[in-house]
Amino acid sequence: MRLRCSACDAVPADPDALACAACGELLAFELDPARYDAYAIEANARLRRASIDPRDRSGVWRFRELLPPIDENAITTLREGDVPLIDGPRGAAHAGVERLAYLHLGMNPTASFKDAGMTVAVSRARERGARVAVCASTGNTAASMAAYAARAGISAVVIAPVDGISAAKVAQTLDYGAHVVAVEGDFDDALRAVRALNPATVAVVNSVNPYRIEGQKTAALVLLEQRGWRAPDWVVMPGGNLGNASAFGKGFREAHAIGLTQRIPRLAVVQASGAAPFAQAWREHRDLVPVKAETDATAIRIGAPASWKKARAEVRASAGTVLDVGDDEIAEARATIGRDGVGCEPASAASLAGLRRLVADGSIARDADVVCVLTGHVLKDTAYAARYHASGAPQANAIVRGVELADYLNLLLLARA
Ligand SMILES: *Cc1c(COP(=O)(O)O)cnc(C)c1O
Ligand SMILES: [Zn+2]
Repeated sequence: MRLRCSACDAVPADPDALACAACGELLAFELDPARYDAYAIEANARLRRASIDPRDRSGVWRFRELLPPIDENAITTLREGDVPLIDGPRGAAHAGVERLAYLHLGMNPTASFKDAGMTVAVSRARERGARVAVCASTGNTAASMAAYAARAGISAVVIAPVDGISAAKVAQTLDYGAHVVAVEGDFDDALRAVRALNPATVAVVNSVNPYRIEGQKTAALVLLEQRGWRAPDWVVMPGGNLGNASAFGKGFREAHAIGLTQRIPRLAVVQASGAAPFAQAWREHRDLVPVKAETDATAIRIGAPASWKKARAEVRASAGTVLDVGDDEIAEARATIGRDGVGCEPASAASLAGLRRLVADGSIARDADVVCVLTGHVLKDTAYAARYHASGAPQANAIVRGVELADYLNLLLLARA
């Protein structure tokens, strides 16, 4: 494991730097696949799933040989990462594919995928004796950092835009004892402020921190593990700051290089139309130009994604694609996922909405083997769900009022007969 610049390959002098001193780009860990034995990793993972060591029971730390080395005593885990792959027949019908599975990262301890990265970033912060962790957040990074920092005995400071962040996520973050500092502006402004901090004095745990990416890449391993290490044709996921797309791409690439799986799935990254600078850049074969972001899918309301170059490299390496979908498409996709008994927050549903588009335009075949990544839990944004069901939208499920219960049940029984 070596920390390198993702652009110019320079090796940083400071192991906790967030950017290359030579060129300013993001840093990334690099592993040498020749030093790994796929059979041993697979067998180890199987044994560890039956162990009682908390590290072994974590879907992140179970793969610790593939992570940057961290002192065992600093490891801060809530048994994150071991999330289910669940089939979604209604989602499949919605998108027009024969079958579909959801990788539900909302089943993590604080109910979003951020936990898989945060356990590694906070463990590293603890190892190096950091006393304060800081992040900018659209909500889920905040909740995740707050929980892990609480466990690690580190103070947590969240820089959050005053408007446009789910109240449920703020409440969750306050519960875990973080200091929530409201700032004017949007997420992009908040992240800019955090990136200007000195990483020697505070641990910045946004996804510009390469430890976050290492943790999140294990979601790709957990996905493959549940399929007997057989890769799907496509993995479709939402993209905001684009750390997670970078992490999935890295995870699949490394798994393939080591020989854990025979091929790399194609990555489709889906943005919300009001926050789609990456999709625009992809379509027009040009570099990313930041936009002012606006979407009801607040977790991906990001106009200047920090990891777009890493994500572009991963999408290219996988022969994948990038697109954007409207908020109305996200709303219908989210409602459909709910009807599968799964449930997710709006940003997550961009994946299913994107899949529907890609099937409609012929980019993905109806018989393709597809996994949609759900990034956050339905309870992360109950206000959005409540609004939807009160709205008269196609799948709105309004509360029934003023009926005689026996009559109502009889009608229901007749309808099911
Ligand atoms: C953070 C987040 C995203 C976006 O992930 P990026 O790594 O910023 O692209 C998507 N969905 C949910 C629920 C999130 O919390
Ligand atoms: Zn560099």
